[in-house]
Amino acid sequence: MSEEFVPFALPDIGEPEIDAVAAALRSGWLSSGPRVKEFEAAFAARLAADITAVSVNSATAGLHLALEGIGIGPGDEVLVPTWTFTATAEVVRYLGGVPVLVDCDRATLNLDLAAAAAKVTARTRAIIPVHFAGLPVDPPGLAELAQEHGLEVVEDAAHAFPASAAGQEVGTGASRATVFSFYATKTMTTGEGGMVVTRDAELAQRIRTMRLHGINRDAFDRYRSSVPAWHYDVVAPGFKYNLTDPAAAMGLVQLGRAQAMRDRRAAIAAMYDEMFAPTGLELPAHGPAGTEHSWHLYPVRLPDGMGRDRFIEGMGARGIGTSVHFIPLHLQPYWRDFGGHQPQDFPVATAEFARVVSLPIFSAMTARQIERVIQAVVGVL
Ligand SMILES: *Cc1c(COP(=O)(O)O)cnc(C)c1O
Repeated sequence: MSEEFVPFALPDIGEPEIDAVAAALRSGWLSSGPRVKEFEAAFAARLAADITAVSVNSATAGLHLALEGIGIGPGDEVLVPTWTFTATAEVVRYLGGVPVLVDCDRATLNLDLAAAAAKVTARTRAIIPVHFAGLPVDPPGLAELAQEHGLEVVEDAAHAFPASAAGQEVGTGASRATVFSFYATKTMTTGEGGMVVTRDAELAQRIRTMRLHGINRDAFDRYRSSVPAWHYDVVAPGFKYNLTDPAAAMGLVQLGRAQAMRDRRAAIAAMYDEMFAPTGLELPAHGPAGTEHSWHLYPVRLPDGMGRDRFIEGMGARGIGTSVHFIPLHLQPYWRDFGGHQPQDFPVATAEFARVVSLPIFSAMTARQIERVIQAVVGVL
């Protein structure tokens, strides 16, 4: 191969991130300290004045703590799209709850709100919508479903920073909590990390306590307060989910670049849309006018007669990485057996899974890399 492989995804890390992490290391605060506080304040301020942000070491941890905080427990049913990563559902199991899988909408691949309503029972307590690829789940539709059935909403916004729909930025809606991911290849990164945002001060405090062993003061507070630093109260059997200062230092720089990185991905998506329009590919949904898609992923659906394996092999042979989002949960051994599911129980997800592929879309892509992806797609088709 004459040119370097174009990976499916790559973090966009520059000298400012490296300098910020180095400064954190030199400061001596290697665990949660002043940079974590600063990152949380900056993230919350970026969304809205009445939002509280609590950082964690992954979105998975954040989803777990949000569900714990709203009191999900054994036997409680939580609606979860089958079209997601396993983390969205596994956190319900951590608490002894029952994830109830929901089929997706054919056009957007977001969870189908009507299919969700049909799965509500007397035991349904909550719903975890996933803004797939960065396209927000219809905010009014979601709020109406939640209100009609008395459901708590915890948004899995792992793909959706920054994103907005119906004049509302993801993280500022009516939900109890929204959880973002800063995993290495997400829209902004701290290596591993996540953020829970909420307007509920009591829920935020519970999450803060539970992310650090159920201790009601963190190390930073203990060294700042007039109460002796050695003293702390354990008020619950908590977890070890806190973010580190070097990670928060990276996050602060990435937060400042998040909109520019998003705009770069949107420009790549626009180029793909234009170049792929004549190819027979089904292109990703953009949402109604006024939607700001984060473009975390660019999932295409292949035309009839083009096998997915053949497409992925062809792309690989041309030096282009691809991926598949997602293998629906009902086809995964654990979730299939847990729910006793058959492929035909989720007809849309099962059918669309067979033809979906994600193409590279990351802000650090060069013009040449974008051109090579376009040439490869056209060549393979
Ligand atoms: C990546 C991802 C998560 C988990 O994020 P982590 O920060 O890695 O825990 C959860 N849900 C979805 C939809 C994801 O893509």
